[in-house]
Amino acid sequence: MARIVQKYGGTSVGDVDRIKNVANRIKAFRDEGNELVVVVSARSGVTNELIARAKSIHPNPSEREMDQLLAIGEQETIALTAMALQAIGVDAVSYTGAQAGIFTDKVHTKAKIKTIDAKPLEKDLKAGKVIIVAGFQGINDEGHITTLGRGGSDLTAIALAAAVSADKCEIYTDVDGVYTADPRVVKTAKKLNEISYDEMLELASSGSKVMQSRSVEFAKKYNVVFEVRSSFNQNPGTIVKEEVAYMEKVVVRGVAVDKDQAKIIISGVADKPGTSAAVFRALADANILVDMIVQNVGRHGVANLTFTVPQTDTHKAAKALEPALASIGGGQVAVHEHIAKLSVVGVGMKTHSGVAATLFEALAHAGINIELISTSEIKISIVIDQDRADEAARLAHKAFGLENI
Ligand code: ASP
Ligand code: MG
Repeated sequence: MARIVQKYGGTSVGDVDRIKNVANRIKAFRDEGNELVVVVSARSGVTNELIARAKSIHPNPSEREMDQLLAIGEQETIALTAMALQAIGVDAVSYTGAQAGIFTDKVHTKAKIKTIDAKPLEKDLKAGKVIIVAGFQGINDEGHITTLGRGGSDLTAIALAAAVSADKCEIYTDVDGVYTADPRVVKTAKKLNEISYDEMLELASSGSKVMQSRSVEFAKKYNVVFEVRSSFNQNPGTIVKEEVAYMEKVVVRGVAVDKDQAKIIISGVADKPGTSAAVFRALADANILVDMIVQNVGRHGVANLTFTVPQTDTHKAAKALEPALASIGGGQVAVHEHIAKLSVVGVGMKTHSGVAATLFEALAHAGINIELISTSEIKISIVIDQDRADEAARLAHKAFGLENI
């Protein structure tokens, strides 16, 4: 008998038949005597539909009201999943995020979990119930509903696994696990048996859509080992865990493409202390996540600053920059949305040289121009034209021999 936290994503609970399928799978685990806490997402597409509906009423809806609205997607699926279980004789109970004791900070639409009071969950687990928890939502100190950022159900599952000291955490999705690249783009992509938190984190933050990156950070921090696997078959998935020595033998473990970034260039800013501070403080205060940052060498007292932000935040960013630029004596903002970020990731980079050269050569041979470069110990990211992104992913995958991994 084990205590298992499972999470089923939006496609896994996408319609009534799929919810029944998930209920049958949960029942099989329950029949083996396991204790189960099950996190579900909203039906796939529902969160997007709700966002579109909100925007059709107000161009810039209040974030508090957005949370009120978006939380209903998961509230539908928890109740239906609990009913589906009850219909096949399983004692199940649904919990909203608040009922599950998930307390967050006050940042609406991307709240962070502060604490989880697991007492109510423990009580029902002891009573033998299967608990179905709404992903992606919590409650703040003032009793307002918050949501945890897009894809936040993953975070709910990982955080609950830590809070109830689960023996296992399983993230069920519509793919068999983590691949060396997106199999829809790179036909030769291979499923990985395991991957380290850091690699997974770099892949997740590089646009590999398997999981929300904050949830992987959380898993790393609390050392929650989890498995990403499919809810549509019984195939073993990919285990995500702390790095172990043999993982470094593989130089590059995956290639990811992110087409949801935009590049912002600020030209003609004063080349003096405080310029970058003012720019990035303004973006930080607007809660905008900045990714790659490049500053060129200043000439004649002025410099250019280039960085990437999520495409959804470009207008917010441009707006936030206006007063900041005025305060430092000016600068012009240009936004480029038709870009893609390509990243190659692997803990083996720490001990192998020539990784950047291999990547750049592969792209150079195909005449693909590199606009920005940034690196970490285990990742190389570049910004390229969005139209060449898929081709670049295939070239990088081949250059690092990932089809034979
Ligand atoms: N329903 C939310 C979303 O679409 C949360 C999730 O699916 O994890 O972002
Ligand atoms: Mg999701």
